[in-house]
Amino acid sequence: MNEKILNPYYGELPESYLFSTIAKKIAAYKERNPGTEVISLGIGDVTSPLIPAVIEAMHKATDEMAQKATFRGYGPEQGYGFLREAVVRGEYAPRKVDISPDEIFISDGSKCDVANFQELFSADCRIAIPDPVYPVYLDSNIMAGRKKNIIFLPATAENDFQPELPEGGVDVIYLCSPNNPTGTVLSKETLTRFVEYALKNGALILFDAAYSAYIRDAALVHSIYEIPGAKECAVEFRSFSKTAGFTGVRCAVTAVPKELGKLRTMWLRRQTTKFNGVNYIVQRGAEAVYSESGIVQTKQVIDTYMANAARIRTALAECGFTVCGGQHAPYIWWKIEGWNNSFEFFDRLLETCAVAGTPGSGFGRCGEGFFRLTAFGDPERTKTALERIRNNLKSLRC
Ligand SMILES: *Cc1c(COP(=O)(O)O)cnc(C)c1O
Repeated sequence: MNEKILNPYYGELPESYLFSTIAKKIAAYKERNPGTEVISLGIGDVTSPLIPAVIEAMHKATDEMAQKATFRGYGPEQGYGFLREAVVRGEYAPRKVDISPDEIFISDGSKCDVANFQELFSADCRIAIPDPVYPVYLDSNIMAGRKKNIIFLPATAENDFQPELPEGGVDVIYLCSPNNPTGTVLSKETLTRFVEYALKNGALILFDAAYSAYIRDAALVHSIYEIPGAKECAVEFRSFSKTAGFTGVRCAVTAVPKELGKLRTMWLRRQTTKFNGVNYIVQRGAEAVYSESGIVQTKQVIDTYMANAARIRTALAECGFTVCGGQHAPYIWWKIEGWNNSFEFFDRLLETCAVAGTPGSGFGRCGEGFFRLTAFGDPERTKTALERIRNNLKSLRC
């Protein structure tokens, strides 16, 4: 094969994917220390099983598939009406946001939606991406050949992790709130500034709300559409992955309001050509997240994770560290004072405590000097990890 046929932009991607590097380091440590149990507060995946309401709905849907009268083949590309209506009822109506079911697109994940959405943009459009943030926004645009069109919006302790407006013109702005990895929520003021900027400059906001279910304060913004004017300038991504433990099941929601005109029809066209819907059983499971028992059970799971988050926050603060996040998100953003390389800190934490986390630099240049811990772990193991940190404080200081 002639390599000239290959997309050259893949060569512009960062060398090795963050998590595979980390996995290799952990595997090597385990080989050297077979007797020690490594506790990972690293990878952002849920650990609680699906709630009973979801399991029940999926069993019932499976039985329907076994009967000729209720069997289903290809479903509607945008998702079944029952789920799109449940999303409006469960996510938008309670926040007094006016989104209708035909503005909702069901998919098998926010990662694919957020990565695929840039296909709708021209090759030369200018992109703004927060730093640090979920690496998918950057990588998908690099793959599409936009590396030189990207500017970063720093979110640092100095600006309270509220990125400033882009300097110069941009066409597309990615925002993630609550943010992965910093665990911080964008304020109503920040979001209003971005929406006003987008309206004034004809820009589009891509708002990733994957963690909105973790927001504990009802006064904080859960959906970009709570900001006046956002329906004219924003697409929103929501996912059942972190909300309801669907990381392995796969189901997500993208809202493209009618006000966005051609963009909505283009996304529909893109999905009908390249995607064939989420399976019926999964969509019934997702619908059950919004049933009466589903809401109660989902809240219980999230409360458990958030109790972990509070534990991590408190323990690190008691040790004298500066931490943020963990109040409205399952991520704790740990300032590793004195260390100028978060990968070195990763090694030290692993070697001295057998605890794994995620180096902040993996999420962007502004992530350097920080370390991400997640609240998705088992409560007892998380407590053990924190004890180990407490007992090895000296070696964790640079
Ligand atoms: C986990 C995560 C998602 C969800 O991705 P899925 O493909 O729906 O599992 C989206 N955005 C961010 C920032 C995430 O951390």
